[in-house]
Amino acid sequence: MSLRSPFLTLLLLLLAGCSGPSAVAHRRPIRALLITGGCCHNYALQTFALTNAVARHARVEWTIVNEGGSGTRAEIPLYDQPNWARGYDVVVHNECFADTQSPDYIRRITRAHEAGVPAVAIHCAMHTYRATSIDEWRKFLGVTSRRHDHQSRYPVKKAAAGHPILKNMPDDWITPKDELYVIEKMWPGATPLATSVSEADGKTYPVAWVNGFGKARVFGTTFGHSDATFQDPVFLEMLSRGLLWAVGTESLADRR
Ligand SMILES: [Zn+2]
Repeated sequence: MSLRSPFLTLLLLLLAGCSGPSAVAHRRPIRALLITGGCCHNYALQTFALTNAVARHARVEWTIVNEGGSGTRAEIPLYDQPNWARGYDVVVHNECFADTQSPDYIRRITRAHEAGVPAVAIHCAMHTYRATSIDEWRKFLGVTSRRHDHQSRYPVKKAAAGHPILKNMPDDWITPKDELYVIEKMWPGATPLATSVSEADGKTYPVAWVNGFGKARVFGTTFGHSDATFQDPVFLEMLSRGLLWAVGTESLADRR
Protein backbone atom coordinates (compact mmCIF):
# COMPACT_ATOMS: atom_id res chain seq x y z
CA MET A 1 0.00 0.00 0.00
CA SER A 2 1.30 3.42 -0.78
CA LEU A 3 0.77 6.46 1.39
CA ARG A 4 -0.17 9.77 -0.09
CA SER A 5 -0.39 13.00 1.85
CA PRO A 6 -2.46 14.58 3.07
CA PHE A 7 -5.32 12.19 2.70
CA LEU A 8 -5.75 8.75 1.36
CA THR A 9 -8.97 6.93 1.76
CA LEU A 10 -8.58 3.23 1.45
CA LEU A 11 -11.58 1.13 1.05
CA LEU A 12 -10.29 -1.97 2.65
CA LEU A 13 -13.16 -4.20 1.87
CA LEU A 14 -10.75 -7.06 1.74
CA LEU A 15 -13.16 -9.40 3.34
CA ALA A 16 -16.25 -8.30 1.54
CA GLY A 17 -19.08 -10.72 1.54
CA CYS A 18 -19.57 -10.49 5.26
CA SER A 19 -22.65 -12.46 6.14
CA GLY A 20 -24.40 -14.01 9.08
CA PRO A 21 -24.60 -12.45 12.55
CA SER A 22 -21.84 -9.92 11.98
CA ALA A 23 -23.70 -8.45 9.02
CA VAL A 24 -26.65 -7.87 11.30
CA ALA A 25 -24.50 -6.35 14.01
CA HIS A 26 -22.69 -3.97 11.64
CA ARG A 27 -24.12 -3.69 8.15
CA ARG A 28 -21.69 -1.08 6.93
CA PRO A 29 -17.93 -1.04 7.29
CA ILE A 30 -16.40 0.51 10.39
CA ARG A 31 -15.07 3.95 9.50
CA ALA A 32 -11.61 4.34 10.97
CA LEU A 33 -9.24 7.30 10.84
CA LEU A 34 -5.57 6.43 11.27
CA ILE A 35 -3.33 9.38 12.16
CA THR A 36 0.29 8.44 11.76
CA GLY A 37 3.72 9.96 11.13
CA GLY A 38 6.38 11.89 12.99
CA CYS A 39 9.58 10.68 14.53
CA CYS A 40 11.37 7.43 14.80
CA HIS A 41 9.28 4.61 13.34
CA ASN A 42 8.44 2.80 10.11
CA TYR A 43 4.91 4.08 9.67
CA ALA A 44 4.41 2.67 6.18
CA LEU A 45 5.07 -0.84 7.44
CA GLN A 46 3.01 -0.28 10.57
CA THR A 47 0.05 1.03 8.57
CA PHE A 48 0.16 -1.92 6.20
CA ALA A 49 0.38 -4.41 9.06
CA LEU A 50 -2.35 -2.82 11.15
CA THR A 51 -4.91 -2.44 8.38
CA ASN A 52 -4.37 -5.97 7.14
CA ALA A 53 -4.61 -7.41 10.65
CA VAL A 54 -7.90 -5.66 11.38
CA ALA A 55 -9.29 -6.80 8.03
CA ARG A 56 -9.12 -10.37 9.28
CA HIS A 57 -11.78 -9.47 11.87
CA ALA A 58 -14.03 -6.84 10.34
CA ARG A 59 -14.75 -4.72 7.31
CA VAL A 60 -13.08 -1.37 7.86
CA GLU A 61 -12.98 1.70 5.64
CA TRP A 62 -9.72 3.43 6.50
CA THR A 63 -8.79 7.05 6.08
CA ILE A 64 -5.05 7.38 6.57
CA VAL A 65 -3.50 10.73 7.40
CA ASN A 66 0.29 10.94 7.44
CA GLU A 67 1.20 14.59 7.93
CA GLY A 68 3.84 16.56 9.77
CA GLY A 69 7.02 14.98 8.43
CA SER A 70 9.40 12.87 10.47
CA GLY A 71 10.45 15.25 13.22
CA THR A 72 9.29 15.59 16.81
CA ARG A 73 7.34 18.82 16.44
CA ALA A 74 4.42 19.44 14.12
CA GLU A 75 0.91 20.78 14.09
CA ILE A 76 -0.81 18.86 11.33
CA PRO A 77 -3.46 20.43 9.05
CA LEU A 78 -6.02 17.75 9.87
CA TYR A 79 -6.73 19.33 13.24
CA ASP A 80 -7.37 22.73 11.67
CA GLN A 81 -10.76 21.38 10.74
CA PRO A 82 -13.12 22.04 13.65
CA ASN A 83 -14.96 18.75 13.12
CA TRP A 84 -11.93 16.71 12.17
CA ALA A 85 -13.26 13.49 13.71
CA ARG A 86 -16.84 13.73 12.47
CA GLY A 87 -18.11 10.62 10.74
CA TYR A 88 -15.53 8.23 12.14
CA ASP A 89 -16.34 5.29 14.38
CA VAL A 90 -12.81 5.22 15.76
CA VAL A 91 -9.55 7.16 15.53
CA VAL A 92 -6.21 5.35 15.74
CA HIS A 93 -3.39 7.55 17.04
CA ASN A 94 -0.03 6.22 15.89
CA GLU A 95 1.79 9.52 15.62
CA CYS A 96 4.97 10.71 17.33
CA PHE A 97 5.35 14.44 18.01
CA ALA A 98 6.85 14.71 21.49
CA ASP A 99 7.75 18.39 21.30
CA THR A 100 4.44 19.83 20.12
CA GLN A 101 3.11 21.91 22.99
CA SER A 102 0.24 24.21 21.99
CA PRO A 103 -2.61 23.81 24.50
CA ASP A 104 -5.20 25.08 22.01
CA TYR A 105 -4.05 22.59 19.39
CA ILE A 106 -4.07 19.67 21.83
CA ARG A 107 -7.50 20.57 23.19
CA ARG A 108 -8.93 20.52 19.67
CA ILE A 109 -7.88 16.88 19.53
CA THR A 110 -9.02 15.77 22.96
CA ARG A 111 -12.38 17.58 22.75
CA ALA A 112 -13.43 15.36 19.85
CA HIS A 113 -12.70 12.25 21.88
CA GLU A 114 -14.27 13.59 25.03
CA ALA A 115 -17.47 14.09 23.04
CA GLY A 116 -17.53 10.40 22.21
CA VAL A 117 -15.20 9.40 19.37
CA PRO A 118 -13.45 6.18 20.45
CA ALA A 119 -9.70 5.82 20.07
CA VAL A 120 -6.76 3.46 19.91
CA ALA A 121 -3.38 4.84 20.99
CA ILE A 122 -0.18 3.08 19.96
CA HIS A 123 3.36 3.40 21.32
CA CYS A 124 4.73 6.89 20.60
CA ALA A 125 1.26 8.40 20.86
CA MET A 126 1.99 8.12 24.57
CA HIS A 127 5.03 10.41 24.24
CA THR A 128 3.31 12.76 21.82
CA TYR A 129 2.74 16.21 23.39
CA ARG A 130 5.09 15.13 26.17
CA ALA A 131 6.48 18.67 26.35
CA THR A 132 3.17 20.38 26.99
CA SER A 133 2.11 21.65 30.39
CA ILE A 134 -1.53 20.61 30.16
CA ASP A 135 -2.79 17.13 31.07
CA GLU A 136 -5.70 16.73 28.64
CA TRP A 137 -3.84 14.38 26.29
CA ARG A 138 -2.60 12.28 29.24
CA LYS A 139 -6.12 12.04 30.66
CA PHE A 140 -7.34 11.01 27.23
CA LEU A 141 -4.69 8.29 26.99
CA GLY A 142 -5.22 7.17 30.58
CA VAL A 143 -1.49 7.23 31.33
CA THR A 144 1.39 9.64 31.77
CA SER A 145 4.73 8.54 30.32
CA ARG A 146 7.78 10.61 29.47
CA ARG A 147 10.56 8.07 28.88
CA HIS A 148 11.22 4.47 28.01
CA ASP A 149 13.61 1.68 28.92
CA HIS A 150 16.00 0.04 26.49
CA GLN A 151 14.84 -2.33 23.79
CA SER A 152 14.46 -5.93 24.87
CA ARG A 153 12.11 -8.88 24.57
CA TYR A 154 9.60 -8.32 27.38
CA PRO A 155 7.47 -11.08 28.93
CA VAL A 156 3.85 -9.91 29.18
CA LYS A 157 1.62 -10.80 32.12
CA LYS A 158 -2.15 -10.43 31.89
CA ALA A 159 -3.74 -8.18 34.48
CA ALA A 160 -7.30 -8.68 33.23
CA ALA A 161 -7.24 -12.16 31.75
CA GLY A 162 -10.93 -12.27 30.86
CA HIS A 163 -10.97 -9.06 28.86
CA PRO A 164 -12.00 -9.56 25.21
CA ILE A 165 -8.99 -7.59 23.96
CA LEU A 166 -6.71 -10.29 25.41
CA LYS A 167 -8.59 -13.20 23.94
CA ASN A 168 -6.13 -15.54 22.21
CA MET A 169 -3.13 -13.87 23.85
CA PRO A 170 -0.91 -16.67 25.21
CA ASP A 171 -0.20 -16.55 28.94
CA ASP A 172 3.50 -16.74 28.15
CA TRP A 173 3.69 -14.13 25.38
CA ILE A 174 7.09 -12.49 25.05
CA THR A 175 7.26 -9.46 22.79
CA PRO A 176 9.66 -9.07 19.91
CA LYS A 177 12.43 -6.59 20.69
CA ASP A 178 10.62 -3.42 21.72
CA GLU A 179 10.75 -0.49 24.10
CA LEU A 180 9.18 -0.62 27.56
CA TYR A 181 7.55 2.70 28.39
CA VAL A 182 7.83 3.89 31.97
CA ILE A 183 4.32 4.75 33.16
CA GLU A 184 4.48 7.49 35.79
CA LYS A 185 0.77 7.58 36.42
CA MET A 186 -2.45 5.87 35.49
CA TRP A 187 -5.36 8.29 35.45
CA PRO A 188 -8.73 7.57 37.04
CA GLY A 189 -10.83 5.60 34.61
CA ALA A 190 -7.91 3.64 33.18
CA THR A 191 -7.61 -0.10 33.81
CA PRO A 192 -4.44 -2.11 33.09
CA LEU A 193 -4.93 -5.16 30.88
CA ALA A 194 -1.34 -6.38 30.76
CA THR A 195 2.00 -5.52 32.33
CA SER A 196 5.72 -6.05 31.89
CA VAL A 197 8.61 -5.71 34.31
CA SER A 198 11.41 -3.24 33.72
CA GLU A 199 14.86 -4.76 33.41
CA ALA A 200 16.24 -1.42 34.58
CA ASP A 201 14.34 -0.71 37.79
CA GLY A 202 12.46 -3.98 38.46
CA LYS A 203 9.10 -2.20 38.55
CA THR A 204 5.94 -3.42 36.85
CA TYR A 205 4.42 -1.16 34.21
CA PRO A 206 1.17 -1.38 32.26
CA VAL A 207 1.79 -2.15 28.59
CA ALA A 208 -1.86 -2.35 27.52
CA TRP A 209 -4.95 -0.79 29.12
CA VAL A 210 -8.42 0.54 28.54
CA ASN A 211 -9.61 3.99 29.49
CA GLY A 212 -12.82 5.93 29.66
CA PHE A 213 -12.45 9.52 28.53
CA GLY A 214 -15.65 11.52 28.51
CA LYS A 215 -18.03 9.45 26.42
CA ALA A 216 -15.26 7.60 24.56
CA ARG A 217 -13.67 4.21 24.96
CA VAL A 218 -9.88 4.28 24.58
CA PHE A 219 -7.52 1.33 24.17
CA GLY A 220 -3.80 1.92 24.52
CA THR A 221 -0.60 -0.06 24.23
CA THR A 222 2.94 1.20 24.65
CA PHE A 223 4.45 -1.55 22.52
CA GLY A 224 4.81 -0.93 18.79
CA HIS A 225 8.29 0.48 18.26
CA SER A 226 9.82 -2.13 16.04
CA ASP A 227 8.99 -3.63 12.69
CA ALA A 228 9.20 -7.02 14.39
CA THR A 229 6.41 -6.11 16.81
CA PHE A 230 4.16 -5.15 13.90
CA GLN A 231 4.87 -8.55 12.40
CA ASP A 232 3.98 -10.39 15.60
CA PRO A 233 0.55 -12.07 15.34
CA VAL A 234 -0.14 -11.75 19.07
CA PHE A 235 0.47 -8.00 19.01
CA LEU A 236 -1.61 -7.54 15.87
CA GLU A 237 -4.47 -9.57 17.36
CA MET A 238 -4.41 -7.42 20.49
CA LEU A 239 -4.48 -4.24 18.40
CA SER A 240 -7.35 -5.53 16.26
CA ARG A 241 -9.40 -6.56 19.26
CA GLY A 242 -8.58 -3.24 20.92
CA LEU A 243 -9.99 -1.37 17.95
CA LEU A 244 -13.16 -3.45 17.89
CA TRP A 245 -13.60 -3.06 21.63
CA ALA A 246 -13.23 0.72 21.34
CA VAL A 247 -15.91 0.80 18.66
CA GLY A 248 -18.11 -1.45 20.77
CA THR A 249 -18.21 -4.27 18.25
CA GLU A 250 -15.72 -6.60 19.91
CA SER A 251 -17.94 -9.59 19.27
CA LEU A 252 -17.36 -9.19 15.53
CA ALA A 253 -13.90 -10.62 16.01
CA ASP A 254 -15.34 -14.01 16.80
CA ARG A 255 -18.00 -14.14 14.12
CA ARG A 256 -15.93 -14.20 10.99
ZN1 LIG B 1 9.65 3.93 19.60
